[in-house]
Amino acid sequence: METLLHNIKVIDDRIAKACLEANRKREDVKLLLATKTVSPDRIKIALNAGYTLIAENKIQELKDKYEALSNTHHINHFIGHLQSNKIKELLCCDVQCLHSLDRIELAEKLNQRLAQENKILNVLIQVNTSGEESKFGIAPEGAIELIREVANLKHLQIKGLMTIGIFSSEAEKVRKCFQLLRSIKDEVVGLSIPNVSMEELSMGMSNDLEIAIAEGATIIRVGTAIFGERIYADSYYWNENSKVI
Ligand SMILES: *Cc1c(COP(=O)(O)O)cnc(C)c1O
Repeated sequence: METLLHNIKVIDDRIAKACLEANRKREDVKLLLATKTVSPDRIKIALNAGYTLIAENKIQELKDKYEALSNTHHINHFIGHLQSNKIKELLCCDVQCLHSLDRIELAEKLNQRLAQENKILNVLIQVNTSGEESKFGIAPEGAIELIREVANLKHLQIKGLMTIGIFSSEAEKVRKCFQLLRSIKDEVVGLSIPNVSMEELSMGMSNDLEIAIAEGATIIRVGTAIFGERIYADSYYWNENSKVI
């Protein structure tokens, strides 16, 4: 238990230092806890310490934990790949923001269901800035068109962009991914598309959060550095070809 709180403190310090170095306000960067594979009991330790922004990657895990955490105060985001046959379940779990909207077919189905339920959902457009085939996300060249299309869907509210940086020990390669996301954001802002806000840039994780903050991240998503190593490889969550076990 103490380790977990200590780890959060370390991350908090890293965020504060990165903000200072980037000349940004600490309150402009939100820490989102990536809680995949983490038990509700351990999540509660973080919630009780005041870290209430959490996110899952898989609908089944979201559902299980939504029940287990039903009597706690927290805000749910969803950061995993979403299949359109899981939309109903996503909406049942009171998810406040979907970080992984990456195709118009999904957007249209979401919009349809949201209309039936008379709800509005905040979404971020996920962009594949690393060019790795295994990553989800719209290609950078297609991002603006997708944003224009999604902007027409009344029950979706675009709040910004999300990306997963390249896995590389070379900081400059990682930085290029985040710079690309930011440049797309700037382009979108310049277009003043109705119904589109670009207030959030969701980028940066355990290993690259400093670079992301330097490049303008407003939400960083941290799992491993707080909760420890996971038993599944990341490809289980990010690779389009990997099968659900
Ligand atoms: C798991 C996950 C994270 C957190 O990654 P860590 O390296 O464990 O900090 C961030 N974003 C997404 C989309 C994730 O699935």
